[in-house]
Amino acid sequence: MSKLIKTVRGMRDFLPEEKAKLDHVINVVRNLFEKYGYDEVSMPIVENFELLAMKAGEDIRKRMFVFEDKGGRTVALRPEMTPSVARLFIDSLMKAVPKPVKLGYIGPCFRYEEPQMGRYREFWQGGFEVFGSPHPEADAEILAIAHDMMTSLGFEKFQLRLGHVGIIRSILKQEGIEEDYQDRIMGMIDADKKTEVFGLLAELDTSEKCMKSLTQLLKIKDEDLKGGLKKAQEIVGDFPNTRKAMKNLHQIVEITEAQGIIGKIQLDLSLARGLEYYTGMIFEIFARKLPIAIGGGGRYDKLVELFGGVPTPAVGFSPGLDRIALAMDKEGLFADLSKRNKVLVVPASEDVYSHAAGVVQELRRQNIPCELELMRRSLKRSLSFASNSNYDYVVIVGKREMEKGEITVKNLKTGEQKTVSIDKAHKEIPNVSRKNTGE
Ligand code: AMP
Repeated sequence: MSKLIKTVRGMRDFLPEEKAKLDHVINVVRNLFEKYGYDEVSMPIVENFELLAMKAGEDIRKRMFVFEDKGGRTVALRPEMTPSVARLFIDSLMKAVPKPVKLGYIGPCFRYEEPQMGRYREFWQGGFEVFGSPHPEADAEILAIAHDMMTSLGFEKFQLRLGHVGIIRSILKQEGIEEDYQDRIMGMIDADKKTEVFGLLAELDTSEKCMKSLTQLLKIKDEDLKGGLKKAQEIVGDFPNTRKAMKNLHQIVEITEAQGIIGKIQLDLSLARGLEYYTGMIFEIFARKLPIAIGGGGRYDKLVELFGGVPTPAVGFSPGLDRIALAMDKEGLFADLSKRNKVLVVPASEDVYSHAAGVVQELRRQNIPCELELMRRSLKRSLSFASNSNYDYVVIVGKREMEKGEITVKNLKTGEQKTVSIDKAHKEIPNVSRKNTGE
């Protein structure tokens, strides 16, 4: 007996219904590329390990699928796409195209995680990146896209948690803490390991004032954005080099107010993201029924330069597409997804098998999605198969119809039946497409 081979742990198949759900989310994201002027690009799944590892952060770095290719290169499956899109920008667009360069992408990513609900080893990400603008309007545009995506998908209650790595990093810098240590501290904050944060700060001989300010800052979680900012301002008053970051955050908040999206934003200064490349505003998106983020992003002004490009400010965001589909499922937001009409073309007897294969092709030429009955069931059994399998229409092709160039269209939902000439089929069967872009 041959051995049954299953999917590799953490990898999964998408069955038709799950694939339709993922595609729905992808369609909404693609629609936003167009609506906001982002050109879609595609990058390879395999990249140089060095590129992916440089600023990935400890946690993601150790979860990468790394291997040597047959040419002896150390390569990895991408755990996210920002390094790849930054590389693409440097390679091909940096000098050729005026700024800003706005790019979108969609594709699978890989992280060797412990599989659990909403956490897979292969998962789908989308992304929006703006290269070239250092201004808060660009940050606010990314927030507006995230907001638009959530409402287009049908989420009513959701939260964009907004933070700024510049504030905590400025405090740490003023204390003389090196960037490597700052990265470690940000990683610990991201993993919610506060005891370790303060343990390390104590080892580094950090001042009382700094410890106290950080303790208070990490507690700021405020839906009243301006109130939250005021509190933060009082806490960081003794650290003059936080001024730039605070001003920047104020400006971003002000623009989001003008955009009318402020109601969904919560100020969360304990937010730190695993990736080390962030330099400014950062955010994560949360839906009501999932405890994990369904997307996140922020500003990364140093990455392009670090990868050898001309210094270029950048800001972006990545929605986790399959995690979004899961959150939508939990909120019942997929209810009316399958809008496509299902049509089955059935030959009524053996002598019309070939003719029916011609009819089905003619209907497709009229843009009617349809299928030929491929199991050679009798007419009676075809009809009961079609109604059990949720078809909307059956097109019956018998000898009499064949001779007259006609078909009989039976609407399974109403039971009505009508014989018409083949070239009028599109008048009987409305072409309702399954594509639903959230418009
Ligand atoms: P990150 O690049 O870590 O900020 O991830 C961006 C988004 O990708 C997250 O908010 C998740 O929605 C999604 N994501 C990250 N890791 C996974 C995973 N292992 N499985 C499913 N989705 C993920």
